[in-house]
Amino acid sequence: MPFICENVECRAVLARGQVRSSQEDKGWCFYCPDCNARNELKDVGMPDGPAQLVQPERPSPPHRVIATAHPLEDGRYAAQLRVQRALAIKGTYAVEERWEELGVFINAQEAVAHANSFAAELLKA
Ligand SMILES: [Zn+2]
Repeated sequence: MPFICENVECRAVLARGQVRSSQEDKGWCFYCPDCNARNELKDVGMPDGPAQLVQPERPSPPHRVIATAHPLEDGRYAAQLRVQRALAIKGTYAVEERWEELGVFINAQEAVAHANSFAAELLKA
């Protein structure tokens, strides 16, 4: 199993030989050679044996959610959303899903908030 950088923007798939794991006060980790993000590791080896490092399972994969407010001609804002679901195969994403107009709002913050809550519902399913 390769390691996968948990930085959503990076998601580099790294062969174990490519990363140098280190033990810090907070526990084991490695720093992504591509983006330098700290990635947590867990030692699942025997207490007195050599360290056997794995990446902890995350409750949910890091989906990409981009919620924006698109200004309309009448001064209101359309809530727009782009979602890329992270697939079970780490490091890959599904085809982007887009919504051009989830609703129309008086101000931009409301539009973004609506798009974000829509995304939260969507990704819960
Ligand atoms: Zn990275």
